[in-house]
Amino acid sequence: MFNAIVIDKPEDKQTVALTQIGEDQLPEGDVQVDVAYSTLNYKDALALTGSAPIIRKYPLTPGIDFSGVVTESAHADFKPGDRVVLNGWGVGEKHSGGLAEKARVKGDWLVKLPDGMSLRQAMVVGTAGYTAMLCVLALENHGITPESGDVVVTGAAGGVGSVATALLAAKGYSVAAVTGRPAEEGYLKSLGATSIVDRSELEGKVRPLNAERWAAGIDVVGSTMLANLLAGIKYRGIVAACGLAGGMDLPSSVAPFILRGVTLAGIDSVMCPKPERVAAWERLAQDLDMGKLADMETEVAFDQVIDAAPQFLDGKVRGRVIVPINTD
Ligand code: NAP
Repeated sequence: MFNAIVIDKPEDKQTVALTQIGEDQLPEGDVQVDVAYSTLNYKDALALTGSAPIIRKYPLTPGIDFSGVVTESAHADFKPGDRVVLNGWGVGEKHSGGLAEKARVKGDWLVKLPDGMSLRQAMVVGTAGYTAMLCVLALENHGITPESGDVVVTGAAGGVGSVATALLAAKGYSVAAVTGRPAEEGYLKSLGATSIVDRSELEGKVRPLNAERWAAGIDVVGSTMLANLLAGIKYRGIVAACGLAGGMDLPSSVAPFILRGVTLAGIDSVMCPKPERVAAWERLAQDLDMGKLADMETEVAFDQVIDAAPQFLDGKVRGRVIVPINTD
C-alpha cells in the first residue's frame, strides 16, 4: 500500500482525501515510477476544490505533473533508475497523476530529465515552467529577438509568468511584467523584469488598437487583458496565449490582425508532441538560471496539499508550489 490523494464522486458531491491505495489501483501503463516531487498548478487547484470539471474519471489521483525514478518498465526507452518528468497528456484529469507515492503511465508520455537538472528543480519548473518555455519558443519561432523591443508578460508573479519572466530576462529581453500585486515588484525585478505594469492598466475598456507598445507578449490571463495586449502589440508582433486566469472570453476585434499583422499563437502543453517537449526541457536546462528557481518556490507538504489548494484560486500564490513526495 502507498499514500495517494484520491478524488471521488460517490454521489453528486466530490470528495477528496489523502489515503492509502494498492498498486492494483494504479491505472494501465507500461512504466511505473516512484514519484519524487509533484506540484500544485492552477489546474490541480481547480481539480482539488472541484471548482471546474477537470476530473473526467472517478476515483482518480490528481496532479498534472511529477518528477520521479522509474521502478518498472516494459517500454523500450526506459529502464529502472531513469529519472523522468511528466507533464499533461490528461494525467491528473483522466489518468491518475502525480499526487501519490507511485504512478503508472505510458512511457510515450515521459521525458528523460536533462543532465544537470535535479528531480526537485524539474518540479520547481513543472508544467507552468515548461509551458512558459513553449511560449518563449513560439516567440522565437516568430522571429522575435531582444532587439525587437519589450516583451510583456501577464500574471507575472504566478507560475507561468515567473518562469517566462526569468527565461526572457536570461536571454537579454526587456520584460514588462504585468501584476495585480505591487508588493511583488522586488520579486519580479529579481527575476529580471525591467518594468512593472499594474494590472489595472490592462483591465480598462478595449479599443481596437492602442499605441504600439510591445514587440511580443506572453499571456496567462485571457479575456480583457489579452484583448488589451493585442491592441498594444507592435506591427507584425505576436502574443503567445496559454491561460485563462482572468476568463475564457476574448473581447477583441480583428483590427490587430488585419491592420498590424499581429499573430495570436495558442499554446497547449497537455497534448504537445513529444519532440517539442524534449526540446523545451533541454532549453529549460540550458537557459534557466537555476539560482532564480529558489526565489520562485514554495513547498507544501504532501499532507497539506488539500488545504493549500484554495489559495491558488484566490491569486495568492507566488511562483511555483512544489510537493515533495519520495525525496530520499
Ligand atoms: P498561477 O500561478 O495561479 O498564476 C496566475 C497569475 O495570473 C496570478 O498569479 C496573477 O498574477 C494573475 N491573475 C490571476 N487572476 C487574475 C485575474 N482575474 N485577472 C488578471 N490576472 C490574474 O497559475 P499558473 O500555473 O501560472 O497558470 C496560469 C494560467 O495558465 C492558468 O489559467 C492555467 O490554467 C494556464 N496554463 C495553461 C497551460 C496550457 O497548456 N495552455 C499550461 C499551464 C498553465 P499577478 O498576481 O502577478 O497579477
